[in-house]
Amino acid sequence: MWTQRTPEEVAKWHEATEREARSHGRLIAGIVWVGVSVLVAGGWFVSFRGGFATHSSTSGSFWLRLPIFAALALPFAWFVYRRESRSELAKLTRRSICTKCEASGESEPGTACQCGGTFVAASTVRWVED
Ligand SMILES: [Zn+2]
Repeated sequence: MWTQRTPEEVAKWHEATEREARSHGRLIAGIVWVGVSVLVAGGWFVSFRGGFATHSSTSGSFWLRLPIFAALALPFAWFVYRRESRSELAKLTRRSICTKCEASGESEPGTACQCGGTFVAASTVRWVED
């Protein structure tokens, strides 16, 4: 059955959720950072007008340019990290559960469920075995 979390448990839930959101942000930002650095250092630029990638024949060593572009792409990766972890945190915090049929969604806490139950914020309840 679902029981109310104590204030300490709610605080722990928020801590864990923030960690989860941050690690999600790190993952996305890491992929973007590596991807952008490698593409730009490799001389591949996405042409938004043409909608396809064009290869500009740039000379010089790829491995020499990679750290330079990786450093240049770092502020962008930081921006992606901040944006992604914020939106993930908002998504996780919005999560609510119907304590009657266990449907989960993003309904406002207090919203009536189709089964006749009521949605509550996922942060305020936890499941315990009877
Ligand atoms: Zn329900």
